[in-house]
Amino acid sequence: MRYLEGFLPMSRCPQAPAEKLKLGNSIDASLDLWSRSDVQTCTDWGAPVIWDGMFDPDHYDQEHRKNHSSVSLTVFAVGRYLDAYLKAFLLSAERHFMVALPVTYYVFTDVPERVPDIHLGPRRSLKVVRVQRQSRWQDISMMRMRAIADAIESQIRHHSHYVFCFDVDQVFVGRFGSEALGDSVALLHAYYYHRPQSLYTYDRNPRSRAYMETGDFYYHAAVFGGSWRTVKNMTETCYQAIMEDKENQVEALWHDESHLNKYLWLHKPSKVLSPEYCWDRNIGYRGDIHVARLLWSEKKYDTLRVT
Ligand code: UDP
Ligand code: MN
Repeated sequence: MRYLEGFLPMSRCPQAPAEKLKLGNSIDASLDLWSRSDVQTCTDWGAPVIWDGMFDPDHYDQEHRKNHSSVSLTVFAVGRYLDAYLKAFLLSAERHFMVALPVTYYVFTDVPERVPDIHLGPRRSLKVVRVQRQSRWQDISMMRMRAIADAIESQIRHHSHYVFCFDVDQVFVGRFGSEALGDSVALLHAYYYHRPQSLYTYDRNPRSRAYMETGDFYYHAAVFGGSWRTVKNMTETCYQAIMEDKENQVEALWHDESHLNKYLWLHKPSKVLSPEYCWDRNIGYRGDIHVARLLWSEKKYDTLRVT
């Protein structure tokens, strides 16, 4: 039955996965791709897809500590999103996000004075970056690409190896740890990972730079990351494509997410996160989701999106 649901779990995996796997780092050699026979644990191009049960969390943390890995997290809380979501997001990140490693939060907002005062653990700090408020929510979402690229260039690259970029309308409820780190990391969208490609909501307008006919997966822009260099390239490239679309007076169907999907099709991620890393409880029970690590918060578009 699972076969019919759209996954070809093992048939798409290389015969000797550990050898075929293109490892971003040696730690990924410890992944047990065979521990989850119910899901796809490896992409066609040899990137692991991280599911619960495939990795030893302590081993990952120890190795990353040895390497002195450090992580920056970017999150935008512009307009009403700040009061609605930021505090719960940050408090939960303190409990679950890369707890073993030094973390610098970058909060981008138009109202710095309203950023809540959160007690942070040792080796964790928070920086606030003021951004202009765009009048359309679509532009707030898209302009994140530019602001992230700028922050990487001016600050992040000097102190963090990795960058993870998050939507604010979510809360961590389980470990989101160093197993998620890699050179280029993308997330399978909870609503599409088990659906056939014909249902993916790629941008289908040939006039947009985000246009694509076929792809690999449908990735969710609520979570993406990688080394600072790769995320800088990713966000700059998406931003340039967004601006070209504006000049041509077109807008991709799902805005920055459409452009991110195009980028990740042309530049394959080195690691893919299962939807355990960004799950929506409204989907209901699914046997392949063994643990929830980050959950969608309730969407309140009618009150939050004023334009
Ligand atoms: N955002 C924001 N203020 C806005 C609109 C968006 O801060 O008025 C940021 C926020 O981080 C949010 C992200 O952009 O999580 C993406 O927007 P949204 O979550 O509404 O998109 P969706 O999850 O529906 O794709
Ligand atoms: Mn969101």
